[in-house]
Amino acid sequence: MKLRRKLFSSKDPYDCNRSELFLGACKENFNHLITHCEDYKKIADGLNIRSAGDIKSVHDIPVIPTMLMKQHEFRAGPYTIMATSSGTSGHASHIFFEWGALISALKMSVKLMRYHGIISMKPCRYIVMGYKPHRSNKTAVVKTAYLTTLLAPAISRKYILKHTHDGYKPDFEGIVAALRKYEKGKAPVRFMGFPSYTFFLFQLLDEKKLYFKLPKGSKIMLGGGWKQFYREAADKETFYKMAKKTLGIDEENIVEFFGAVEHPILYTACTGHHFHVPVYSNIVIRDPVNLEPLENGKTGLVNLISPLCKASPILSVMTDDLGILHDGSDCPCGVKSPYLEIIGRVAPTEIKTCAAGAADILKGVNV
Ligand SMILES: [Zn+2]
Repeated sequence: MKLRRKLFSSKDPYDCNRSELFLGACKENFNHLITHCEDYKKIADGLNIRSAGDIKSVHDIPVIPTMLMKQHEFRAGPYTIMATSSGTSGHASHIFFEWGALISALKMSVKLMRYHGIISMKPCRYIVMGYKPHRSNKTAVVKTAYLTTLLAPAISRKYILKHTHDGYKPDFEGIVAALRKYEKGKAPVRFMGFPSYTFFLFQLLDEKKLYFKLPKGSKIMLGGGWKQFYREAADKETFYKMAKKTLGIDEENIVEFFGAVEHPILYTACTGHHFHVPVYSNIVIRDPVNLEPLENGKTGLVNLISPLCKASPILSVMTDDLGILHDGSDCPCGVKSPYLEIIGRVAPTEIKTCAAGAADILKGVNV
């Protein structure tokens, strides 16, 4: 996996001149998959892509729908860890990662977090708007939330959802008590959680007329998963206003990112609040009818490509999301790579996302 190593060691995470290296790393990954995953080979054969030589562009890489991964377990050789996609109910996919994938993911995360000014040596307090890690919950969201609390040294970690013998319960009072204490201290506070969830906290604070001015350098980090970035109940402007009003945190200190287990690439919003595509991945928007690639600016199915992982055939996955890829030059932030806007889902389904599940728990909160 020489080319993968080279790709994930790129100096500039948004370098637009790495498409040849990217395609090479994809072919290298493809060669591994067809020799280590019988199911993948069958799919590739069915599409008449029999060797890496048949791949002329990223468009030609055989695509596996994420829905299929939820129903069938794919393996491609030995693995170090397994992650489960979010979904408190319904089907979940199991994705396997080998050591090399984890190292690549770590390199990518450090590079991107540094680029976006998120890595800090200044110790801070974390408030995680999600589940406290517990052996009964193995979802990647929990693991990611925990990993995020390592980006700056943690003085403390507080979780809004606590695991009790009745399952997860919100601990709103605990959070208010923590905010009262943190506001008087010097250490910045970092919030980490789903947007819908964080917004719910703002509303609760506002209703109770509880307003805080958190120490300088405090940040709100929004993430958790792909699905949470559909048109939210709250528009971004309202979100930023409420963050300022209830916690005293300015818009520039709100950092959004997302990733998905089936495509574990870290998309981090730029200062223009756009998710530019980093060098480690490629996104193809496809016509929902004939799956032909569409040009930038057109709405279609979102196909995500990355040679990050060997142990699962997630080289090119088709989501059931609708999105638009915009030209990078449309964004004033200076990053030239295109950026993705998620519009919604192809069809409403009964599958509950992790955030929706969490919002249900929060509805039971007593204030
Ligand atoms: Zn931008």
